[in-house]
Amino acid sequence: MTKARLATVWLAGCSGCHMSFLDLDEWLLELADLADIVYSPVGSDQKLYPENVDIALVEGGVANTDNLELLQRVRANTRILVSFGDCAITANIPGMRNMLRGSDPVLRRAYLELADASGQMPQAPGIVPELLERVLPVHELVPVEVYLPGCPPPAERIRAALEPLLRGELPQLSGSDQIRFG
Ligand code: SF4
Repeated sequence: MTKARLATVWLAGCSGCHMSFLDLDEWLLELADLADIVYSPVGSDQKLYPENVDIALVEGGVANTDNLELLQRVRANTRILVSFGDCAITANIPGMRNMLRGSDPVLRRAYLELADASGQMPQAPGIVPELLERVLPVHELVPVEVYLPGCPPPAERIRAALEPLLRGELPQLSGSDQIRFG
């Protein structure tokens, strides 16, 4: 049997969704028989997002130019993109900075107004990615095939989505156990 090519991607999130993925515990061994993890912050040393990925779990909102560039590469090279967790679906916690209406007020607040001493704005073009004006959910920028809510989605919900996907089917998540935010 040909194994699926699975990726997990970390944008602007706390990595809690990835921790929940690791909570799949012994099912990860079954997953290893069904899929190769070809890109992931927790299961691969691959630095560049590869081509021909079957399924990608994308955690986090899109907060800066690095997130945006990676997301576009993910979309161009992935068949089924899963918006993984509340930050990916709604911007959620990272999106709270949107209340400050723009990247400049956010940077000023963090690096000047709240600085203990000698605050200065971070400036390192090409090294520090620029913040986008607003943190955006994934589906506002690229098409999404599957939404997997939760902060984080519990491991059983992740499994309930992955099992059909690995059979080549779209998951039919329903009920408060499987589609609840938070
Ligand atoms: S959805 Fe929750 S657990 Fe997942 S990255 Fe966002 S804050 Fe963290």
